[in-house]
Amino acid sequence: MANNSIKIKLQGKVVIVTGGASGIGETIARVLADHGARAVVIADIQPEKGRAVAESIGLQRCSYVQCDVADEEQVAAMVEWTATTYGGLDVMISNAGTVSSLPQTILDLDFLEYERVMHVNARGMAVCVKQAARKMVELGTRGSIVCTASATAEKATVNVTDYVMSKRAVLGLMRSASLQLGKHGIRVNSVSLGVVLTPLAAKQGIETPADVDKYISRYTSLKGATLTAENVADAVAFLASDEAAFVTGVDLAVDGGMIAMPFDLSN
Ligand code: NAD
Repeated sequence: MANNSIKIKLQGKVVIVTGGASGIGETIARVLADHGARAVVIADIQPEKGRAVAESIGLQRCSYVQCDVADEEQVAAMVEWTATTYGGLDVMISNAGTVSSLPQTILDLDFLEYERVMHVNARGMAVCVKQAARKMVELGTRGSIVCTASATAEKATVNVTDYVMSKRAVLGLMRSASLQLGKHGIRVNSVSLGVVLTPLAAKQGIETPADVDKYISRYTSLKGATLTAENVADAVAFLASDEAAFVTGVDLAVDGGMIAMPFDLSN
């Protein structure tokens, strides 16, 4: 968990977290609130969970908005509501994502599932970056946008072809948007994470710390540590904050060395 006694990173900021009703997004919403955000808007499609998270953070500065990230009208309305209700928009955490529960190898690729995954992870991410950036430009805000990518985007994977393709698209979006929005003072970065135990990971059969040990630990160089949602949220808080004022176009790996793992030719 972020340590408030060290530094409050987001004092007074108005923040949107997509996918904030569950998993990593929920923790991001809590950690950014701990960092002094003036308002945290959770945009998701799980009303019960989203409202419960907003209530537990505190309804005076946290709201749940029902919003499908792939629907541009809904996202535009959610961004407009946020800026009007809280008097601005400083940070967009574009985090909502999904994965197929089918084995999506190239030989078995199910295109209905492929389209569902790409719809949320690629299109939805672009819609959120676009609408947040348009509002920041309109308001003259030197804002920060952080997208949730994945360490898998740098790798070949055994059975999540569509997911990997969708996260690769996030990197292209982040880099292009950072280039285009720099003249407006808007920074765009991403985090690429390893595996965190969430409902999304459970869909891939990774449900317990023992599963992480068994299936994931061999792919990380950092031993004796397990990635948590708080680790991811701390990296997101840094990128979202003025501490990262000169950081843009960067994918920050929070992966225990997974992406950097070399081929071991020593044996
Ligand atoms: P999660 O399933 O717990 O959370 C995802 C959230 O996104 C849910 O609240 C869900 O309702 C929301 N969502 C899905 N589709 C949506 C839509 N169309 N509109 C609005 N909200 C929508 O999963 P998580 O693991 O916390 O995933 C968060 C992000 O982290 C995703 O982008 C995921 O791809 C990424 N990620 C997760 C892992 C992991 O190991 N858990 C690894 C790498 C990347």
